[in-house]
Amino acid sequence: MLTLNYQYKLIPTAEQATAIDQWLLVCRSVYNYALRERKDWVNSRKCQIDRCSIEREYIIAPEVNKPTYANQCRSLTQAKKENPNLKIPQSQVLQQVLKQLEAAFVNMWERGFGFPRFKKQMRSFVFPQVKPDAIQDNIIHLPKIGEVEFRKSRDVPDGFVCKQIRVMRKASGYYVCVCIQCDVDVPDLIPHGHAIGVDLGLEKFLATSDNEFIKGHKFFKESEGKLKLLQRKLKNKKKGSRRWSIVKRQIGLLHEKIHDGRKDFFFKTAHHLCDQAGMIFAENLNLKALGRSALRKACLDASWGAFLTILGHVCWKRGVYFAKVDANGTSQICPNCYTNCGRKELSQRVHSCSSCGYTTDRDVAAAQVVKERGLSTVGQTGTMLMEGKEIGVGVRTSARLSL
Ligand SMILES: [Zn+2]
Repeated sequence: MLTLNYQYKLIPTAEQATAIDQWLLVCRSVYNYALRERKDWVNSRKCQIDRCSIEREYIIAPEVNKPTYANQCRSLTQAKKENPNLKIPQSQVLQQVLKQLEAAFVNMWERGFGFPRFKKQMRSFVFPQVKPDAIQDNIIHLPKIGEVEFRKSRDVPDGFVCKQIRVMRKASGYYVCVCIQCDVDVPDLIPHGHAIGVDLGLEKFLATSDNEFIKGHKFFKESEGKLKLLQRKLKNKKKGSRRWSIVKRQIGLLHEKIHDGRKDFFFKTAHHLCDQAGMIFAENLNLKALGRSALRKACLDASWGAFLTILGHVCWKRGVYFAKVDANGTSQICPNCYTNCGRKELSQRVHSCSSCGYTTDRDVAAAQVVKERGLSTVGQTGTMLMEGKEIGVGVRTSARLSL
């Protein structure tokens, strides 16, 4: 099964645009209402039933069940009888909103994310099931909204059918992200060819084990001044006024431009790496811990996580084997003799091994360690002697990409 996501720009009529806006508003209210329900329940169960809480008390009867995806769906069906607004969007779309909330809670329980927050704005909604032939020429059929024209920037490949459609509102207009699927077996990629390790850094965006550096584009920094200026402008305008909404839109467009530019750079970099390798290994970063550290802003600007996702996708498309390896201590170990050389200060740019004398750039050394680790996970250890040569093919792993 092969799944791809294609994004197109919609050209909705004024009515269709209003409909999409209205659906987004209903989705937001459903999300916030359901979150309120869950939040109240959590608060009311903070202390035992026979005690008094010092902080606050939410009286919810003990026999009331914990709000879950299933019973919130049921209450939604009930609420539709009283609230006609809830009947405007397609029912599956609203169920997806509840599913999204459920996912936010699962992320909190299992992945340590923060408590879900109320949404000021809903940016998109999704049709989980659509007709396989929802796209015809430059018309897309959206359930209940109707036939919407779109700019066909690329053709849907033969043999692919539509599975899901996400409708998005951005500062520059309305978009759809179409999930298309093809019923073919994709063979597991076999690790083969030249291997490279990749080390992501702040000073340079990326260093490879082949001594190549790719400078990062500090998109955010470049536009930061402009953004600050606009935000200051916004402050001086009366909220909700015409001038206020103009500036607000400019901010939205700038954010979008930063995002698009970054994405473009990631794709180009990923293709560039795939041009030279048969296997790519990268560190499995602990993004959560990094996000909390003092380097936060710089890290987020570099958005390594997004890059790794794109790199994984491009590798898969190009038939390059991609895997993430444990990132612990990659900057401490010598790639030549595996001695732990101890922690380096951030200012120390060169790796110089005290036991074997191997000297190279600090980031390149880390990338080389990543490469060695990667090779050992695919069962190709001892490649130190084979540096620069093709590495034997034939080791089949079941490890699939984590896209
Ligand atoms: Zn050494």
